[in-house]
Amino acid sequence: MRFHVLTLFPEMLEQGLHQSILGRAAQRGQLSFHMVNIRDYTEDKHGKVDDYPYGGGAGMLMQAQPVYDAYRSVASEYESRHEGKIRTVYVTPQGKTFTQRLARELAGEEELVFLCGHYEGVDERVLEEIVTDYVSLGDYVLTGGELPAMVMIDAIARLVPGVLHNGESAENESFHNNLLEYPQYSRPEIWHGKPVPEVLLSGNHRNIQAWRLEQSLQRTRERRPDLYEGYRARQDIIREMSVRKRKNIHLMELLSRDLAQEVCRRERSFLLHVDNTRTYALYAESERDARGLFEQCGDALQEKIRILVYLESVRDFLKERYDLTVGGVCYQACFTRRESLGVRHRDIRPLNIEELDRAAGWYPVCGRDYLRRRILAGAVFGVYINDCGTRPAGIIGLHEDGSMGMLYVDEPYRRQGLASSLESWLINRHLRRYEVPYCRVGEGNAAAIRLQEKLNLCLCEEPMWWLEK
Ligand code: SAM
Repeated sequence: MRFHVLTLFPEMLEQGLHQSILGRAAQRGQLSFHMVNIRDYTEDKHGKVDDYPYGGGAGMLMQAQPVYDAYRSVASEYESRHEGKIRTVYVTPQGKTFTQRLARELAGEEELVFLCGHYEGVDERVLEEIVTDYVSLGDYVLTGGELPAMVMIDAIARLVPGVLHNGESAENESFHNNLLEYPQYSRPEIWHGKPVPEVLLSGNHRNIQAWRLEQSLQRTRERRPDLYEGYRARQDIIREMSVRKRKNIHLMELLSRDLAQEVCRRERSFLLHVDNTRTYALYAESERDARGLFEQCGDALQEKIRILVYLESVRDFLKERYDLTVGGVCYQACFTRRESLGVRHRDIRPLNIEELDRAAGWYPVCGRDYLRRRILAGAVFGVYINDCGTRPAGIIGLHEDGSMGMLYVDEPYRRQGLASSLESWLINRHLRRYEVPYCRVGEGNAAAIRLQEKLNLCLCEEPMWWLEK
């Protein structure tokens, strides 16, 4: 991922960002930091970049021209390679507060610009032209945007696949799933007379996990009651849905993995929006409920929507109301056991972006751009066998909504158990994270249904429909 920072103090960021974990990731080429000194772009012959604010008032303001030209130096290069505008964050106390969720969202970009203000801020006219996101570090005022930009870049960069050594460590930390992390201990076993909790020395992973969850809950309740309330409310809904787990599994997992936000709710029905996508998921037990909910939603939906429904009457109502087309019929399958599965072909790892063309040929359904994003997010995996040299013999992936999919094995390598290895491996990965693995099988895809049965996934007998615009 590439970060461009527009600043008057590039040395501050050069110093801060090229250290430790981020510095090493930059050396490996997983991150790159490009500082743009705004002063280099001023047309003022004395190198001035600020002036008095019109209307009077204390302090100086950064002028539009140098900021704009510094931005254009990055944007024009970007525009020659991409369609659309580069995402540009102005760090400002007047923005929405930076959160882990926003860090996750921004980590999905390939390039980002940060604009650091100084003095009393920046001329409004240039902000109107270049900024896509106004983001604050918190409700206090700092002297400049360099520290907030560094903080945000740090939080975003460590979520880029491969930056942290153990890719899973970012997923079990504070704010994952609305909970704070449990307490941690290292050697020695007793320090200042305080022993490490016994359960952590037991080697029993299930007990350790239960203890950690309990500690996380207690800590969140005590230190962040606001987060805890959100967590409890989600758990109540998930419990209610679990009565029909096979049917509701996608909704339950969206909530428990914190992948979606509620758009609106009416009595017991609600609509979720999957983060950073145009995908929605609906929970409504009748057409009447769905109608009521959508009346209330008003214009809250994006113009281009994609939604999964499982009631025929709701399907017809939505089709008409939003002028949607039915994209396909599918059935959900979920793995409800806790024991991991045997994996015959074990060399399975995140797919390299160099394999995009090949993978797009194998899995054209969602388009090349989608696949590219998923590969960059570290969510597509290849299986490697000797016969194939350094290239994958097949792939599997995680969709943006958390479901498993994109399974494909190249023709010459079929009937060797590669599909089964890929899916079993991905199921085990979910189990290690205490998630329920699930997928959707297209109607009439007999081979896929056979595989789900072989791996003991429970198939939902009721169909579901994708509606799209
Ligand atoms: N006059 C501005 C106001 O009242 O909103 C504050 C300007 S501040 C002194 C100078 C710069 O520091 C801002 O332009 C912004 O880039 C940065 N900054 C200050 N506080 C910040 C915060 N809480 N979050 C993000 N950036 C901040």
